Amino acid sequence: MVRLTFYGGINEIGGNKILLEDGERRLFLDFGFPYKKHKLFYEEYLKPRSGAGLLDPLAMGLLPPLEGLYRDDLATPGLWQQFQHAATYRQLDQVNGVLLSHAHLDHSGYISFLKNDIPVFATSVTAFITKAMQDSGKSDFEQQVCFFSPTKQERPTGWKQIAHLTDNTAKQQRQFCLADVNPAELSPEATQFWSRGFWEKTARQKELVSRPLASHRHCSFNLRCFPVDHSIPGACAWGIETSSGWVIYSGDLRRHGKRAELTERFIEQAAELHPRALILEGTGVQRQSNVAEHEVYENGLQAIAKSNSLVIADFSPRDVDRLLTFLQIARDTGRKLAILPKDAYLLKTIRLLEPEIPDIAQESNLVIYQDTIASKSPGIWLRNLYQEYDSKIVLAEDVSSAQDQFILCFSFFDLNELPSIRPQAGSLYVYSSSEPHDEEQEIDFRRLHKWLEHFELKGFGLPIEKNGQWQVPDGEKGLHASGHACGLDLLEIARQIGPQVLIPVHSEHPDFYTEHLSDSGIGVILPTVGGTIEV
Ligand SMILES: [Zn+2]
Repeated sequence: MVRLTFYGGINEIGGNKILLEDGERRLFLDFGFPYKKHKLFYEEYLKPRSGAGLLDPLAMGLLPPLEGLYRDDLATPGLWQQFQHAATYRQLDQVNGVLLSHAHLDHSGYISFLKNDIPVFATSVTAFITKAMQDSGKSDFEQQVCFFSPTKQERPTGWKQIAHLTDNTAKQQRQFCLADVNPAELSPEATQFWSRGFWEKTARQKELVSRPLASHRHCSFNLRCFPVDHSIPGACAWGIETSSGWVIYSGDLRRHGKRAELTERFIEQAAELHPRALILEGTGVQRQSNVAEHEVYENGLQAIAKSNSLVIADFSPRDVDRLLTFLQIARDTGRKLAILPKDAYLLKTIRLLEPEIPDIAQESNLVIYQDTIASKSPGIWLRNLYQEYDSKIVLAEDVSSAQDQFILCFSFFDLNELPSIRPQAGSLYVYSSSEPHDEEQEIDFRRLHKWLEHFELKGFGLPIEKNGQWQVPDGEKGLHASGHACGLDLLEIARQIGPQVLIPVHSEHPDFYTEHLSDSGIGVILPTVGGTIEV
């Protein structure tokens, strides 16, 4: 009997944490950051206290109370006595690994809390993105997926406060096991990238403390990794051979993106395994149809070709396929696509594994936008990047003096650069992302509209509020291809794979599957938070 216990991703989009147990062998399928639950309690200025380690996320129900699973250095004194009577409390010492589906934080973020000896199984691209994101971002202590600095307890002498945890010790890298590439066959540049930044100064010399990449063959389960198409490169679904048969976990996926053939191959190969169970995402169950990436290109091109002033394109920076769509539009309209340094770093990183990704140095339509106000202590990654692409750097004044020659890849959070750029009235703001999903995002949308008004920019594809509903105006639709399959596609995926049991996750409407698959011969079981399903 195989036991599946669901600690996250139930009636919510993201936060997946699924424990698979087959006798004494155990795996987690993703270990994600629960955005929705987190937002119930926290916001930008009210955060879990990093010095309290595990206490805050456990007490607020963001992490399941599984003693033995988490880093010991994050435990404050007497921590577990507080949770031993919780309904889902359990001692859980032996976990053989986490199968990570992709590098979106709602799937990967809480890996940061796991014991460092639990390996992470992922595609090479996913592993590299987790490092690039951490190298180039200011990740909170609760989102340190690739590496972290172990904490130690410190108590101010003569104070009555409880000891707090500080993390000024050397960084430790997690063990990543690659499912698609033999680490020995990676290029020297790729291997170098993985170990960069992990030096420790000893009395005599600097010592490399990076943990080399391993292969997924060390797993106690027979695994299959199926690359799929999603709004971030490197996404995969997993197959796990258990004593009850194959269990398939979809991660997040779609059939209408640039890499759709990957998803089709996954469906075929998963069906051949005649799986016992399919754990399938359901983000987009209520969407009736899809916008394809080539439509984003056509609609974007049409709007941008008509503009003779500055164009700002707003899309998710880790959606590399979207970035390439706008690069093509830049080529076709004779403009330069100006991307932010962290996006350039991501592109350069993925190119180490996927040589078909454009080389920034060679690509004449691609430049890097440098923030106007110098940062106090730029990271090594940033200094190296500016050095390597010196001739590719553009500043606010370069953009300002030739506005009709650029497409700037900015999101809402980069708008504070506009006072330096001084866009001409009538400049175009092309919105190529999803509509607001909650109150906090609605507030940001109202702010975004104010910025546009203030600088007299023209929005295109930007949702507008009408009678409490946010909608993209007619004639401006089709500028965003979702990372998730629509309802009809998901039903077809379920039918084509044909598992005995289907378990929906990552969805606000899991009963969609119960309603629509009743005649399919597939048994749909809805999981509950902390509940176990035996297959
Ligand atoms: Zn995702």
